[in-house]
Amino acid sequence: MTATLVFIFGLMIGSFLNVVIYRLPQEESIVFPSSHCPDCGTELQAIDLIPVVSFLWNKGHCRYCGSKISYQYPLVELLTALIFILLYHQYYLTMQFVVYALLASALIAVSIIDLQHLIIPNQITYPGIIVAFLLSFLNPEISYINSLLGILGPALLLFLIAVVSRGGLGMGDVKLIAVLGGFIGWQKALVAIFIGSIIGSIIGLYLIVVSDKGLKSKLPLGVFLSLGGLVMILWGQEIIDFYWQLIL
Ligand SMILES: [Zn+2]
Repeated sequence: MTATLVFIFGLMIGSFLNVVIYRLPQEESIVFPSSHCPDCGTELQAIDLIPVVSFLWNKGHCRYCGSKISYQYPLVELLTALIFILLYHQYYLTMQFVVYALLASALIAVSIIDLQHLIIPNQITYPGIIVAFLLSFLNPEISYINSLLGILGPALLLFLIAVVSRGGLGMGDVKLIAVLGGFIGWQKALVAIFIGSIIGSIIGLYLIVVSDKGLKSKLPLGVFLSLGGLVMILWGQEIIDFYWQLIL
């Protein structure tokens, strides 16, 4: 029963993230005006805004003008709900669940925006760093010292890489890892960078082999950092324990 409610809650947050993903890069307000069809501009009613259901019911088209609606909307809703369910499995309804659900939501929004526009909005990262530090006082898994070290340490590392690589890595990525480190601490943030680089390298190699664009096309590194972060939120302790078992 609770799992079902968590799933529905995840769908609703995912629906809100769709608004953030669509409006933030266009510098539009997230609250006003109310949702409208991007094609015909018709203001959407409550019945048009039921996550996933409205999309399926109208077969992926606007009910008013018939123009196609992107699959991204139901996918982001389902992805958010799925991650919320995994978080619930790991943490039940604890403070950690609330904190990590908030972080996961930010990571989902950042990933899709980075994927589409190759930017990581300051409107998410700047408040994210402050919120990360404040929430460390409520999250029993992390001390505020570790949160502070998490904000500064991994970001300094990525900043140095950004300077050396001259543009391979953007300042948005540096701020994003500061948010992540503030939430999960410096150790897990470093592992998140490691996991993110492995995923990024595999996809980078794939692009070189398959397309002639190769590494000339800029990769949305925020997506890979976010993926690494999500893995660490969900299975971080298991991964660290497994690692120690290997070397001891
Ligand atoms: Zn329309």
